[in-house]
Amino acid sequence: MIGLACPACNHLASGCVDSRPTDRGASVRRRRECKHCGARFTTIEECAETVKAVVPPPSPVSRPTLLTQRSLRERLIAGEYA
Ligand SMILES: [Zn+2]
Repeated sequence: MIGLACPACNHLASGCVDSRPTDRGASVRRRRECKHCGARFTTIEECAETVKAVVPPPSPVSRPTLLTQRSLRERLIAGEYA
């Protein structure tokens, strides 16, 4: 694999010598060996995608609420709260 730098010498080529799933398969832990200096290091691979929360649509305004709002507005216009 080329891309992840060796922590010892910064070389980009390494090979995987062991691989095992962790967190019930949510990630993979790999033991890698640098092809330049032979240093071994561990990488953890996991999915970068996030799950969007499902937001339920707002509940429709009930008829009693509409009636209450209308009657309140009518009372305000009528000056009952002045
Ligand atoms: Zn190295």
